[in-house]
Amino acid sequence: MAVALVVAAGRGERLGSVRPKALVPLAGKPMLQWSVEALRAVGEVQRIMVALPAAELESAPGGTIAVAGGEARSQSVLAALSASGEGDPVIVHDAARPLARPSLFEAALAELRRSHADAVIAAAPVSDTVKEVGEDGRTVSRTLDRSRLWAVQTPQVFRREVLQRALDDASDELLAAATDDAWLVEQAGGTVCVVEADPQNVKVTTAADLRLAELLLADGIG
Ligand code: C5P
Repeated sequence: MAVALVVAAGRGERLGSVRPKALVPLAGKPMLQWSVEALRAVGEVQRIMVALPAAELESAPGGTIAVAGGEARSQSVLAALSASGEGDPVIVHDAARPLARPSLFEAALAELRRSHADAVIAAAPVSDTVKEVGEDGRTVSRTLDRSRLWAVQTPQVFRREVLQRALDDASDELLAAATDDAWLVEQAGGTVCVVEADPQNVKVTTAADLRLAELLLADGIG
């Protein structure tokens, strides 16, 4: 049976809210609640851990287990994993993606079962052309082959011992630099595969993203 780790310990400064981003209301309930409800609908999930700011542990949704998050996102993942007891595979999900559907979690879990990968991550094919700039931050040094580019999201699902080892072996600097956990598995030589996410699995970073998520939910797209 799987265990889910929902990371919700970010401050969300770019949203301009005094509350942690995960607790900001979205269409009538805290943003975090949407992810927890989606995970509750996934039959394979036996336990849901939620990493929150230490002062907000009582804000965890009922039926979840709250842990204090860390300074960086991957430290929050490590704290939740360490407190999770057992459960394999491990689903890691950002509370900042409240519109992830149960079917996306299920697709990632199914792909992990089917494949020999160490991790399977939700991602979207990139539709923009992506260029890299040089050290001056302005001059284009190359254009990347768009047909091979995927924008990475959560959920990300891992074989438990692979994630545990990748997090345990990473230095504090690496944990602080990691914007996703699959990167740590890649650094450790593991195999990571993508599964295509639905277009509505948006990340809420700014007030405009929050409005978009509300509109998607109001249209029944979320
Ligand atoms: O800051 P960003 O939006 O990239 O954070 C992604 C997710 O990681 C959010 O759900 C946020 O709450 C979580 N996070 C965390 N602990 C941190 C930083 C971010 O749980 N120290």
